[in-house]
Amino acid sequence: MRLRGVFTIGVAGAIALAGCSSGDEAPKQPVDATTLAESVTIDSVVDHLEKLEEIAADNDGNRAAGTPGYTASADYVAQTLRDKGFDVETPEFEYHSFDVASEQLLADGQDIEVQALGYSPSTGPDGITAPIVAVPADESPGCEITDYDGLDVTGAVVLVERGVCPFADKQKLAAERGAVAAVVVNNEDGPLLGGTLGDPDAGEIPTAGVSKADGETLAAADDVTLTLETEATTSTGRNVIAQTTTGSTDDVVMVGAHLDSVPDGPGINDNGTGVAATLETASQLGGSPNVNNAVRFAFWGAEELGLRGSEAYVESLDPEQKADIALYLNFDMLGSENPGYLAYDGDDSDAFGAGPGPEGSAGIERTFVDYFAGVGVDLDGTDFDGRSDYGPFIAAQIPAGGVFSGADGQKTAEQAQEWGGTPDVAYDRNYHSADDTLANIDREALAQNSAAVAYAVGVYAQDLGGPNGVPTGAEREKARAGD
Ligand SMILES: [Zn+2]
Repeated sequence: MRLRGVFTIGVAGAIALAGCSSGDEAPKQPVDATTLAESVTIDSVVDHLEKLEEIAADNDGNRAAGTPGYTASADYVAQTLRDKGFDVETPEFEYHSFDVASEQLLADGQDIEVQALGYSPSTGPDGITAPIVAVPADESPGCEITDYDGLDVTGAVVLVERGVCPFADKQKLAAERGAVAAVVVNNEDGPLLGGTLGDPDAGEIPTAGVSKADGETLAAADDVTLTLETEATTSTGRNVIAQTTTGSTDDVVMVGAHLDSVPDGPGINDNGTGVAATLETASQLGGSPNVNNAVRFAFWGAEELGLRGSEAYVESLDPEQKADIALYLNFDMLGSENPGYLAYDGDDSDAFGAGPGPEGSAGIERTFVDYFAGVGVDLDGTDFDGRSDYGPFIAAQIPAGGVFSGADGQKTAEQAQEWGGTPDVAYDRNYHSADDTLANIDREALAQNSAAVAYAVGVYAQDLGGPNGVPTGAEREKARAGD
């Protein structure tokens, strides 16, 4: 936009330029947050949701990562943004998944409950039969090669206590000493759930976990047969990233929503709503708005598999590119059927769960609280736990925030009194199900939240300062030092 800054106010620019050659654009009005919020209408947001629902219907009822429904969703979003004049990229990323077909452990013929650790190599369908040898439970059980001094584990299944070092290290050392499999014993009561070797390359020998009680049974056994039929798969995902051609690229306002659904449903509230509100905000803003700061929109792949798209994206940035991101706004579920009105608790004013976010997160929370106060809604907080795509951003010390209408948590009696709806019932009963459809969206909540998305984008696109601002320049460097 050639004349940006010349006509900062007034419509006179349009008249003055009326005689320009064809193809020239009149200078645009500086973006105003309230005007932008008003331009994001519920009808246009619902249009995007209808499109996403149609895509799911045409593709086995879902838009999950790695499926044709996801590809069609990404194509729709990318095309919509290109039509509005954005520079659009669709960077690919790799992610791993892990499946367990069977897991079984027999000790002297007795069946022991066992869980394969994530990314454990497979034993094959016949399993491994071998003597079991326990590693002494010292202060660093199985974490140092000297733990194996005087212990012959060649061809054996090693029994090792959990704790002190990663599971991956324990099985690696056992493998180095010739063990053919490892069984990790929980160091507290109950089964060893959710343990992982971290990534497929870490796995040296089949590794599983058992409860503390079963660990004692195993220590007394002679031979065991361990069967873990596992498979690790590496897949390629895709994000959609679009940025305005205007505004300072040293102070990027980043806005994101995950584009994938779970495999069980069309993902209209989770997270068609965040996508639709973000996409319509981008559409109304246009690719070359009159803004001080560049705005970058992100539509993430494979969030439901563990924030894979946003994680890969943040990882792909060099330190300077990270430093250029002033803040990140995240929108994940905005139209829950029994809606909550929740802002990410960036200042930890609720003193619940995770602590406060990176410096600036508190200001972002206030921007949403103030906006909703202006339309007569009192927001509650929701824990700043990083369990959506803002997680990788706050881990990189980038301030973040957003609003949320609630998932499988229950609306309290006080909240129902404040906002209406049904107390002691989930915010979204259709969460991660086939019933997560447009018919089950609360359109009033979606309308208000969508306007709030646009409002926050409008505010920060123009001004990162003020009482609700985020650190800039040297302040930002200082705030993020140590990252
Ligand atoms: Zn979600």
